[in-house]
Order: sequence, then structure tokens, then C-alpha cells
Amino acid sequence: MSNVWRQCSNCKRDIRPGQKYFVCSVSTCNRKRNSLVFCSVDCWDAHLPDANHRQAWAVEETAPRT
Ligand SMILES: [Zn+2]
Ligand SMILES: [Zn+2]
Repeated sequence: MSNVWRQCSNCKRDIRPGQKYFVCSVSTCNRKRNSLVFCSVDCWDAHLPDANHRQAWAVEETAPRT
């Protein structure tokens, strides 16, 4: 069992099971295969200039404990 669930799409910091993380509200950023996850709102914010969303917000989630 790994201590790391996924890594932040921006800063590559580890996101651990049970930890809060953020996803983008835009559906194209949440495709199963290549979904973006962020360790903080700041990291989500850093993704906005590239993504060019018209309307987006950060959605708080909790990493699953498996
Ligand atoms: Zn990050
Ligand atoms: Zn996005």
C-alpha cells in the first residue's frame, strides 16, 4: 500500500490518502484518464492561464483511503 495517492499536477507534491485536495470544476480537466489534481487552491490557480477557462472554480475533495 502506497503512502501517496497522487501528485499535484502543478507542483508535484505528494497527495496522501485522506488528505484534502482540489480539482478543477471544468469537466475537461476531470477526464478519468488524465484528470488534474491540485494540493492547494494556489496550485489550481496556477493552472488557469494555461487552461483558458471562461468559468471555473476549485472543488475540494478528499483523497480516498484505500
Ligand atoms: Zn501543488
Ligand atoms: Zn481546469
